[in-house]
Amino acid sequence: YRGMKLMEKPTREKNTNVTDSLANRTLIVTTIQSEKELVGNDRYEGYCMDLLKELSNILGFTYEVRLVGDGKYGAQNDKGEWNGMVRELIDHVADLAVAPLTITYVREKVIDFSKPFMTLGISILYRKPNGTNPGVFSFLNPLSPDIWMYVLLACTGVSCCHSLSFRFTPYEWYNPHACNPSSTLVQNNFTLLNSFWFGIGALMRQGSEVMPKALSTRIVGGIWWFFTLIIISSYTANLAAFLTVERMDAPIDSADDLAKQTRIEYGAVRDGSTMTFFKKSKISTYEKMWAFMSSRKTALVKNNKEGITRVLTTDYAMLMESTSIEYISQRNCNLTQIGGLIDSKGYGVGTPIGKRSSPYRDKITIAILQLQEEGKLHMMKEKWWRGNGCPEEDNKEANALGVENIGGIFIVLAAGLVLSVFVAIGEFIYKARRNADIEEVSEEQHDCSSKEFKSAK
Ligand code: GLU
Repeated sequence: YRGMKLMEKPTREKNTNVTDSLANRTLIVTTIQSEKELVGNDRYEGYCMDLLKELSNILGFTYEVRLVGDGKYGAQNDKGEWNGMVRELIDHVADLAVAPLTITYVREKVIDFSKPFMTLGISILYRKPNGTNPGVFSFLNPLSPDIWMYVLLACTGVSCCHSLSFRFTPYEWYNPHACNPSSTLVQNNFTLLNSFWFGIGALMRQGSEVMPKALSTRIVGGIWWFFTLIIISSYTANLAAFLTVERMDAPIDSADDLAKQTRIEYGAVRDGSTMTFFKKSKISTYEKMWAFMSSRKTALVKNNKEGITRVLTTDYAMLMESTSIEYISQRNCNLTQIGGLIDSKGYGVGTPIGKRSSPYRDKITIAILQLQEEGKLHMMKEKWWRGNGCPEEDNKEANALGVENIGGIFIVLAAGLVLSVFVAIGEFIYKARRNADIEEVSEEQHDCSSKEFKSAK
């Protein structure tokens, strides 16, 4: 440790004249526009411009801001040539790059970076999931379709079981003619239809007029009551939550979800560090995502602004830096960050590499650390990032129920009534037919008997 300190000291001392050399110099600063375009003398404003002002105050240089020619951050093409702000630093067209320029391994090899003035990570920008309003049949939602089907099956099964045990047990058969105890005619109330009626009555918490008397049938009845008790209680407990809360169904939750599908298109800013991250990644999920992004012409966008418009207007998810996502989602409440951060890195002030220019970097690093420790960086971030905020989601919770939520139950009622009318007509026709048949038979009998009567005469 001592050795390191001893080695470091001379370099620091050597740098003292650099501050002097920085003072009163005019530096060309390259930057990039990420928000609305301004005109006039104060054409450029924002966090980076404030940072630049602070740096120039501390180090005493003056500056001239120029927007990067190609509007790019900087990436290497297949031939190894750089573009964007990185290229301008390499070519010494600019002395500093004060922009949201991410410190990366590949860039660090061709330009110098100060210590980071802001930390961030890659995440996903996507539109907020639409609240799906519960539909008219949402009263069915508390139980899954499978459970509804099983309940129906169970009800039918139990009715069959019930009616079977009623048939077997001797204790359910009774004499229908109470006044005639010697009658050998016995009757059992539990036909299959009556058993079903008993099951439905219990399920609907209504009971029915037919009640089991034998132990065996009471066991079946009791256990069915217990079953219905649990089903109905679970249904009731879940119902409130399902009817009143708008359900937020997000189609994607993480980068893994994105990689698994192709329906939602996704991409990043062309020639930025996010794109480079995916291009160089050896992690299979990200490799797969890069294969998707590079195969589609439309997946990569020119800048954040274009990406945001695409997210808002089409089914597109944008891989963006958390700082930008935070900024956008404060201002546009339809947008949100999906999942956590994929990586962790920082923005730094870029300078050309080499002996001649790296002293800038040390001075700038010291100034940045100073600004950070004074809390100025934090204040600046607050100043530029804080937006109006978005309304909390949970005040949607206490909605009154409308026809659109439970209207389905009226449909069921109407359908039941219509069915009952048809069944009544059916019953009427059936009975009328049977009566006609009986009448015919009795008339025939009547004819025969009169004939017999006549012949006997
Ligand atoms: N900050 C990035 C860079 O330095 C640009 C934005 C991005 O790639 O998401 O290249």
